[in-house]
Amino acid sequence: MRGVSAPDSTGAGRGRTAPTRPVRAAAPPPERTTRQTAVEEDSVDAVIAWFAEEGRDLPWRHEDASTWAILVSEVMLQQTPVVRVLPRWLEWMERWPAPSDLADAPTAEVLRCWDRLGYPRRALRLQECARVIVREHGGRVPRGEEALRSLPGIGEYTAAAITAFSHQERAVVVDTNIRRVLARSVRGRALPDRSYSAAERAVATASLPLPRQRSVDWNRAVMELGALVCTARAPRCEQCPLAGNGCAWFAAGRPRAQEDTRRRQAFEGTDRQMRGMIMALLRRDGSAAEDQLLALDEANIERARRGIRTLIADGLAVREGTQLRLP
Ligand code: SF4
Repeated sequence: MRGVSAPDSTGAGRGRTAPTRPVRAAAPPPERTTRQTAVEEDSVDAVIAWFAEEGRDLPWRHEDASTWAILVSEVMLQQTPVVRVLPRWLEWMERWPAPSDLADAPTAEVLRCWDRLGYPRRALRLQECARVIVREHGGRVPRGEEALRSLPGIGEYTAAAITAFSHQERAVVVDTNIRRVLARSVRGRALPDRSYSAAERAVATASLPLPRQRSVDWNRAVMELGALVCTARAPRCEQCPLAGNGCAWFAAGRPRAQEDTRRRQAFEGTDRQMRGMIMALLRRDGSAAEDQLLALDEANIERARRGIRTLIADGLAVREGTQLRLP
């Protein structure tokens, strides 16, 4: 699942809120005589046991959560933290509990309800996804990663997550949190590769337990560990079940990354910020005069123009005379 601060995934688990107490003291790691290529069995046990105590109680993890509910949560969580997703997901599920409900909804209303989750193209893709499910799958989310990946907006990660967390099947689920845990615990690196690599895929595949239920438990647990404990900026190794179970990076003294050029682009002054400002106005008022939108950044009118142009191109806004409105 997703972290409190990192965008990620779900995992149909139980548990309470954020973990606060150490689960296992950071004992000296056991000696490894060979280079690790996967998480070992005792480490899998430790992480699953940790999750049973510390995993968060999130509604899309409940046993009665539908596949559609899990799919929506996974799309929302792709680039947005749990704390921001939760109220929006609850509202979506109340308004559009099934794909047919979202398929029939006015697109402007869908975008309004997306609110400030960011990257609103995801909302459009979700509605397209709902329409395809209704049109081609009788209103039911299809089973199997291949069928899922044929849906709009559903990529490798989301298809695997739905397969694991809803259908309870074996699937290699790899989100940013899992990549980070595996990079550190198995490969001894502070950070995963710049983009998801064949080496990372090999480690994730080799680490997935063979028994079906154990694989599901592992996926949800390791994802949560990355979200809550093995965080990007300040991993809490003293609370981590892998610290005493052979985490390679911890055992090596947590060496810093050689270089980290993956700095986040500042949000202030970006085109993305401008698009967000325009969308906020349109969500509030339904439409706005183009002059009003251009005045959002008088020092850089071209930025506002680009925002308007790209929102129209993305299908998030429509021009009507001198007005811009939600589609
Ligand atoms: S011991 Fe530290 S670095 Fe290793 S997996 Fe746990 S939190 Fe991450």
